Amino acid sequence: MRILSRKETKDAGSQTMLTHYGDESFHGAVVPPVFINTLFSFESYEAFQRSQFQDETYYYSRVSNPTQQIAEKKLAALEKGEAAKLFASGMAAISSTLLHCLRQGDHVVCGYPIYNGTYQLFQTFLIKFGITADFVDFRQLDQVRAAIKPNTKLLYCEGYSTFFMDVFDIPAVVEIAKEHGLLTIMDNTCATPATLRPIEWGIDIVIHSASKYLSGHSDVTAGVVISTQAWIDELSKNDAVLLGASLAPLESWLLTRGLKTFGVRMKQHAESAGRIALMLNQHPQVARVNLPLLEQHEQHELAVRQFSDMTGLFSFEMHGGAAAVKRLMNSLRLFQIGVSWGGFESLIYSPGLSIHPEQTTRTEWETRLERTIRISVGLEDIDDLMEDLQRALNEL
Ligand SMILES: *Cc1c(COP(=O)(O)O)cnc(C)c1O
Repeated sequence: MRILSRKETKDAGSQTMLTHYGDESFHGAVVPPVFINTLFSFESYEAFQRSQFQDETYYYSRVSNPTQQIAEKKLAALEKGEAAKLFASGMAAISSTLLHCLRQGDHVVCGYPIYNGTYQLFQTFLIKFGITADFVDFRQLDQVRAAIKPNTKLLYCEGYSTFFMDVFDIPAVVEIAKEHGLLTIMDNTCATPATLRPIEWGIDIVIHSASKYLSGHSDVTAGVVISTQAWIDELSKNDAVLLGASLAPLESWLLTRGLKTFGVRMKQHAESAGRIALMLNQHPQVARVNLPLLEQHEQHELAVRQFSDMTGLFSFEMHGGAAAVKRLMNSLRLFQIGVSWGGFESLIYSPGLSIHPEQTTRTEWETRLERTIRISVGLEDIDDLMEDLQRALNEL
């Protein structure tokens, strides 16, 4: 029985929506075409003139393109926002959004630890334009309040803190932002809309690196910003066009293809990662598993309130410190060593790798980074992944 037309799937279950919504108007093609063209031509002077002042008309692909818009519609619906804008990378989405929102003299209160690219953007780039940021642990609400200054414009945060996966009380932070009239931006790359929908918690603007779980196949670099229609229109029609980091049509199409399996991929990532986390949590060589959804974690109660499930990403800390991390990483066969995460392949990475090998002293923070392994559990058979990890741990 056909209960919905493809167009009507916007508010259906998220996997039904991702399968059908947004790509229904191309001669019934079940796979939408790639509009690889850079420009669109017009039959008359008047037709071109109209295109400049009407929404939904295309004239140049840096500005907008039908293949981009298919992915944008799906992503906006997935995050329960009104509209989305795609960018050439997660960093392009973050930098374009911040350059759009901020001007000289503005101040940002930013969560910490945060994705290193974002941290560097504040510390080395935005500072050149007189935009400053203070970094605080969002678990400490008093510190968030104390960091707000008269020139603070926005609060910037991530659903899970980078590497250690700490979480914070989202509605409490939204409340602080409201009290001070501040905009809230959340990078939701780690949690994904499969487990957290920040807009439903009152966050104004959601950003993703779509290079991770959203595309899921480690073959697309992309970013997206999701918010209200009015805000996305402002961003898209002005600054985003000028900054020029729009996503290419082929990448947009690959992202749309990846989204069609988003729901099943995330379920499998979560199931496998859950089993691996429980095993690691009991292993004598493992000092701590950084995954707030685990019952033993001190933030368990807050985490289950806010996150509907886990993803395939978490980290763990080794009793044997940097030496044990090195031995384990070299001994694993199925888990490949690499940055990034969220694809079909299992990956491991240690944040200690960013400390220069010739640096001889360590702060407490650096020691923690060094004994930590981040794991992105892929879609391989769980028995094979468990066997690889257990063997490598037992050989230590
Ligand atoms: C990867 C990542 C980014 C940057 O995205 P790119 O697509 O690599 O530019 C930003 N934030 C988080 C949390 C990320 O993991």
